[in-house]
Amino acid sequence: REYTPDDIKRMVKDEDVRFLRLMFTDLLGTVKNVEVPISQLEQLLAGKLMFDGSSIDGFVRIEESDMYLQPDLSTWMVFPWGDEHGKVARLTCSVHTADGEQFAGDPRNNLMRVLAEMRELGFSDFNIGPEPEFFLFEMDENGRPTKKLNDQGSYFDLAPMDLAANVRRDMVLELEKMGFNVEASHHEVAPGQHEIDFEYDDAIRAADHIQTFKMVVKTVARRYGLYATFMPKPLNGVNGSGMHMNMSLFDKDGKNAFFDENGEDQLSQTAYYFLGGLLKHAKALTAVCNPTVNSYKRLVPGFEAPVYIAWSGANRSPMVRVPIARGKGTRLELRSVDPSANPYLAVAAILEAGLDGIKNKITPDDPIDRNIYSMDGEELKLDHIQKLPSTLHDALQNFEADQLMKDAMGPHIYQNFLDAKNMEWTAYSQNVSQWERNRYLDLL
Ligand code: GLN
Ligand code: MG
Ligand code: MG
Ligand code: MG
Repeated sequence: REYTPDDIKRMVKDEDVRFLRLMFTDLLGTVKNVEVPISQLEQLLAGKLMFDGSSIDGFVRIEESDMYLQPDLSTWMVFPWGDEHGKVARLTCSVHTADGEQFAGDPRNNLMRVLAEMRELGFSDFNIGPEPEFFLFEMDENGRPTKKLNDQGSYFDLAPMDLAANVRRDMVLELEKMGFNVEASHHEVAPGQHEIDFEYDDAIRAADHIQTFKMVVKTVARRYGLYATFMPKPLNGVNGSGMHMNMSLFDKDGKNAFFDENGEDQLSQTAYYFLGGLLKHAKALTAVCNPTVNSYKRLVPGFEAPVYIAWSGANRSPMVRVPIARGKGTRLELRSVDPSANPYLAVAAILEAGLDGIKNKITPDDPIDRNIYSMDGEELKLDHIQKLPSTLHDALQNFEADQLMKDAMGPHIYQNFLDAKNMEWTAYSQNVSQWERNRYLDLL
């Protein structure tokens, strides 16, 4: 998968690629695309392709706006939907400053920095297997999403109940053509809700995949007149969409560092410390893993989303679950993350928290193997079980109070993230909603 510039030139010819889509991700997790004709290939390979960074959220001020795109050649993929004008290929890029330095405000560069810290501690890879969920809504004649669902299926339902099965199959086929290894795809619990899981990969590639995945899912949905949304809780009264993250650390000789044949429950001390770090920083992490106002409407009891800071081997209500796989597949599953998260920032924050657990030997509390939803306040108190933040505001305050988040984001992203999210909260909290008018207008 490591390509040289010559490989790229050859593949451009062989596959009749006419356009290059250069991808990077802004602070809020939005994929940015610059599409250039193939005539710009030499410029791009020389790292001389310039763009204006001042118009990207959370990047730079006008005075310092010239930025360069440095393509990561190993991310080469050809989109399968070319037409008579030739095909489009994508390359994920690293953003560089005018002086040729890696730009600290690029979330992908930041994740690479945290991964370098991990390597200094003796690990080789942080592997991530994401489980993104999404809803399909019908579109109106203007191509805007409506609230109309196109099916009434539920968990693991098959056709004819699951009318969206064809759409999903098409998504999987397109993803496979692009080199994704899709492991499963199924209808989720809520009507109109789906999940597609792809094979784990190292942190950078997994985050790149998540970004490409979202684009493919949205593109294919459109073909069927449907709108795919990764909004965490689009509907009242049914499950929201999560993006569970399965994670494992590998050490230098290629062994899963979370596995220990002789460890308690065959988990290594490293796994327990990593888990301890996740639990210790859970409240601050929430701001990054659940970064929208809407995220907190998902983290409520009764909809299979976590509400409490706890872990378990079997039970699915806690924030962290340890799936039964052992050996190479030993992993922790963080169930709080939702798909509105910027995957580069979420993975960086998660890794920083886990590494803190390892460095400082943080031991997790005992697992909770009962259904936490049905425990009353007294029981929760006895077990010292704390709640995850219940609003974006609450999460941001915890984020600010946790010094580790500065290390995870670096100063540039840290400040810009905090400013942007505080503004988002202020805008929300000052908005008078329809719910309030329904509730109070004729009552008061
Ligand atoms: N949709 C649920 C969530 O919000 C997860 C359901 C599941 O995957 N079992 O996390
Ligand atoms: Mg799943
Ligand atoms: Mg699921
Ligand atoms: Mg899961």
